[in-house]
Amino acid sequence: MTDKVSHLVLSVLPQVVSTDGVRAMMESALTARDRVGVQDFVLLENFTSEAAFIENLRKRFKENLIYTYIGSVLVSVNPYKELEIYTKNHMERYRGVNFYEVSPHIYAVADNSYRSMRSERKDQCILISGESGAGKTEASKKILQYYAVTCPASEQVQTVKDRLLQSNPVLEAFGNAKTLRNDNSSRFGKYMDIQFDFKGAPVGGHIINYLLEKSRVVHQNHGERNFHIFYQLIEGGEEDLLRRLGLERNPQQYQYLVKGNCPKVSSINDRSDWKVVRKALSVIGFNEDDVEELLNIIASVLHLGNVQYGGEEGNACITSDTQIKYLARLLGVNGAVLTEALTHKKIIAKGEELMSPLNLEQASSARDALSKAVYGRTFIILKFKNTQQRSVDGLLSSHFYLCCSFEQFCINYCNEKLQQLFIELTLKSEQEEYEAEGITWEPVQYFNNKIICDLVEEKFKGIISILDEECLRPGDASDITFLEKLEDIVGGHPHFVTHKLADAKTRKVMGRDEFRLQHYAGEVNYNVNGFLDKNNDLLFRNLKEVMCMSENKILTQCFDREELSDKKRPDTVTTQFKASLAKLMEILMSKEPSYVRCIKPNDSKQAGRFDEVLIRHQVKYLGLMENLRVRRAGFAYRRRYEVFLQRYKSLCPDTWPNWQGKLSEGVAVLVKHLGYKPEEYKLGRSKIFIRFPKTLFATEDALET
Ligand code: ATP
Ligand code: MG
Repeated sequence: MTDKVSHLVLSVLPQVVSTDGVRAMMESALTARDRVGVQDFVLLENFTSEAAFIENLRKRFKENLIYTYIGSVLVSVNPYKELEIYTKNHMERYRGVNFYEVSPHIYAVADNSYRSMRSERKDQCILISGESGAGKTEASKKILQYYAVTCPASEQVQTVKDRLLQSNPVLEAFGNAKTLRNDNSSRFGKYMDIQFDFKGAPVGGHIINYLLEKSRVVHQNHGERNFHIFYQLIEGGEEDLLRRLGLERNPQQYQYLVKGNCPKVSSINDRSDWKVVRKALSVIGFNEDDVEELLNIIASVLHLGNVQYGGEEGNACITSDTQIKYLARLLGVNGAVLTEALTHKKIIAKGEELMSPLNLEQASSARDALSKAVYGRTFIILKFKNTQQRSVDGLLSSHFYLCCSFEQFCINYCNEKLQQLFIELTLKSEQEEYEAEGITWEPVQYFNNKIICDLVEEKFKGIISILDEECLRPGDASDITFLEKLEDIVGGHPHFVTHKLADAKTRKVMGRDEFRLQHYAGEVNYNVNGFLDKNNDLLFRNLKEVMCMSENKILTQCFDREELSDKKRPDTVTTQFKASLAKLMEILMSKEPSYVRCIKPNDSKQAGRFDEVLIRHQVKYLGLMENLRVRRAGFAYRRRYEVFLQRYKSLCPDTWPNWQGKLSEGVAVLVKHLGYKPEEYKLGRSKIFIRFPKTLFATEDALET
């Protein structure tokens, strides 16, 4: 970031307060505050009290006011019902209006970010976080819709808008699945980059999706499903399409779809979703041939899952060639070569290539590895790409899962990094705003989670390094030796414990094959089972070779022949992930962030239920109290001089109706007349800072009388 970084709020353009705005402000923020709470947590009298915080959320939730600010951070509680607050009229209301004039809304965040980008020519990003089912995906869709409706348009721009909007159903079909927590859970991280031209019209964009939970392709827990697209295709695909793909209209026929025993979900209509996705694919630039190739791949994964092994003397062989026939045709590969690759492993001994037979277990895992690789790589190229201009608006959503597998380890690590960025940037921007305004900064105490990030990512002695080392070590390396290494090297770390190292109480809730990390958000146990395999993510070389020979155009993009000639071992999954996270952090650091913090009100997906325990937990791990403390450390409230003067000038005969002098002097005259004590406020270069909410409330009350 440059030295001239400015906080989002600073960039708000001077704006005459509309009467509509005044009413909204008084209604939701001030006069009615007993009933509907305060619209900005900084206005809470008792701002260190978590109970007061939760109470304010509850009051607002009850009134269907799902949005509340902490300064410029938007806190959003999932209503689990459709609210009439996303109409075109609402969009218009938030256009070009100051943050504080209208009630809090996701549109205000979108609009502010957009205007800062245009007026200050500084790249913006919006970070959306919260646990599964909290409403991140919905929030990102609302922001996109807002831009699609309110940004200037021409024919060319319309295409970009359509593509941005339509990329969502496609990504959701391939990357979302029903889980126990959310019927439409995103099983990947998403970074979306929208590029605007100098007129503020969106002219391009691209989407980076990362860390898809590939294991879901081959296995689902009870009550969960595979990715939506499989069911959509089977339920919605036209008769002749299914015939061509060799598929039956019954998900129960497919091994990869029966593990969770949950083919139907009441909130999901796979058949109509199929139509939406088919249309969306063509909008984002897939022509009929591309779609055919894509569906060939999806069908192939289902056929692969049904490949069964039998065999004598432990050597796997494929019992029926039905699937192989379909696979050969759909993937455009030689059936015999594929069969051999699914049952043998190529080894090179004394310069000679040998085919060594796989046993049943090895063969099934080679088959599953192929399915995961094919699906995972296809997913990566499934985004529309259209890069033209520089200026950027990023939308990012991330997840926090309190579960315990390898993928969740990676995702929680990502969240830990995002939290670090959040802490650094909010503190930094506060500090910078004070400096810019010439006001002394008072340092704030806060928990810095760098210690946890280091535990995971530090070179040589972090968890990722230890895992990589075990993955590379020939011989007896296993998930358990990895766990033992962890105990040796990071055993003494205050945020790390294992069954062996734990005290009696913790030991009761830990398995012998688990380690526990004390994340900033809470404790998570990780089961080391599969860590080595998943980190290696090995696809046998001969399977790779077969894929490289495929005639399917999408697969030829996914499997590069260069991969085969490269003698170097590919980077492990965590190492790649660490590198892409570092790049992401760099991108984010160079932008001006806005934050949307999503909260899930209950675990039963019900409207109107406010589960206090669950919410308190999220308030804690989202670091909201800390955020509020930082925001309140100095001054509760700040306003640009022109806005402050405009609103309150009627209270002072010397400023009413038309103040002629300098704005700052007008404000000085005004607050003197109002009887503000010196310790209650400070005058900066362009803003007045007010220390306590009660000062502002008193002034507001005076307006009414
Ligand atoms: P995950 O991490 O699992 O992807 P998420 O945070 O993306 O979860 P969403 O899929 O956005 O969660 O939301 C879950 C469900 O909650 C939605 O399908 C929708 O039914 C409901 N929901 C979320 N936000 C809103 C909203 N603003 N208005 C109405 N319903 C909402
Ligand atoms: Mg989501």
